[in-house]
Amino acid sequence: MHELSLEAIRSALARREFSALEITTHFLDRIARIDPRLNAFVTVDRETALAGARAADAALAAGTAGPLCGVPIAHKDIFCTDGMRTSCGSRMLGNFVPPYDATVVERLAAAGCVTLGKTNMDEFAMGSSNETSYYGPVRNPWDRERVPGGSSGGSAAAVAARLAPVATATDTGGSIRQPAALCGLTGIKPTYGRVSRHGMIAFASSLDQGGVLARSAADAALLLGAMAGFDPRDSTSIDAPVPDYCASLDADLAGLRIGVPKEYLDAGLHPGTERAVRAGLAELERLGARVREISLPHSPLSVPAYYVIAPAECSTNLARFDGVRYGYRCADPQDLFDMYARSRAEGFGDEVKRRILVGTYALSAGYYDAYYRKAQQIRRLIAQDFHAAFAEVDVIAGPASPSPAFRFGEKSTDPVTMYLEDIYTIAANLAGVPALSVPVGLVDGLPVGMQLIGRHLDEARILNVAHRFQQATDWHLRRPGGID
Ligand code: GLN
Repeated sequence: MHELSLEAIRSALARREFSALEITTHFLDRIARIDPRLNAFVTVDRETALAGARAADAALAAGTAGPLCGVPIAHKDIFCTDGMRTSCGSRMLGNFVPPYDATVVERLAAAGCVTLGKTNMDEFAMGSSNETSYYGPVRNPWDRERVPGGSSGGSAAAVAARLAPVATATDTGGSIRQPAALCGLTGIKPTYGRVSRHGMIAFASSLDQGGVLARSAADAALLLGAMAGFDPRDSTSIDAPVPDYCASLDADLAGLRIGVPKEYLDAGLHPGTERAVRAGLAELERLGARVREISLPHSPLSVPAYYVIAPAECSTNLARFDGVRYGYRCADPQDLFDMYARSRAEGFGDEVKRRILVGTYALSAGYYDAYYRKAQQIRRLIAQDFHAAFAEVDVIAGPASPSPAFRFGEKSTDPVTMYLEDIYTIAANLAGVPALSVPVGLVDGLPVGMQLIGRHLDEARILNVAHRFQQATDWHLRRPGGID
């Protein structure tokens, strides 16, 4: 049951080959048996999941079922879930039970999805390895001595280990695509504004975007279609119709123009990853696409620009956590200031504090022009690079991350080395364009990903390219050994 695609689950439920209760119980039992080895989940709510499954079965019987009725799902613990703890990987929100659902959660529930639980993540989505979670690191199902990537590492590990057929995730600088690459999954970050941020705990509001971690482009297309669309409760939500992503999956790639940025096949790329990506590009050529070299000249500046803008936005977003209204409050405060200071000192981990300090500094009078304004100017240049490139090509392709999964501790002592994990993914967030990662090979038994970047609002195209690629290859069907 846990190997079935979303489409297969849907039709099996419709034909009553199994019930929503049976498949939900199956996944809950797998989580109970396998997750102690992975730590992919922070919260599993068996009773709520089983109640949701019974309601789905009733809807299926009554003929009132939504399009994903009875499909089990895991949500990244950054999405608010009504009545279910939402920790965001932090001690700060360890006791936070939201009184409402995020729009993404609400829409998927309306479509009939059954929530299995909440997945582990880097604290406030800051990280590339899941080592910054207050709830402990997540292990990569392909090799439990290695990281699953981050910050959506719990969602990625859960889907890769078949503990959930699909999961929600978020991507501010690569947190869907990099864990997808490191865990052998298909992960899509849609256009900024495509998926509502309402109820998605804010890290860097101009970059954050919700999306999907799935085992195939077809599954990702189905789920994204149910999540996406205008939301009046998010002021940056785009009021544009959402196409049927599944309808265009099979479109022919003949004549498709694919550009490969020469800056993306650089010296920092692992030779095995480079070989796999080049083989993936050759496969796309066999499928009819025309592949050529392009340039995104400002892309080497994306990491420095991001590490001013993202911390600046995080420092303002995280100012709300003060121990007063909700979240962690220190014991026995001496006075108001002591309560603020100690609640934040004890509630936040080191990486979050580092970002708050950097961001506050970059925004302070006298430094604002030197850092924040400069970074915004670079951001504009990076967006213009994409604009110019998309005048000549339809899709941009390259690696998703510089190397396969690394070992715990290998990068966590040096923040800059860790920040370079996102060197190929950050530019798409700065420009707001959609991007995904598909499995493109194995290097020493570990998966690597190929990134496909599309024009604004053109998720359908990159999903189509990914799907055609997956019809011609079987990398996405490989599964981690050692997890039964
Ligand atoms: N790894 C990047 C960071 O630490 C991106 C995180 C994300 O996309 N949420 O900020």
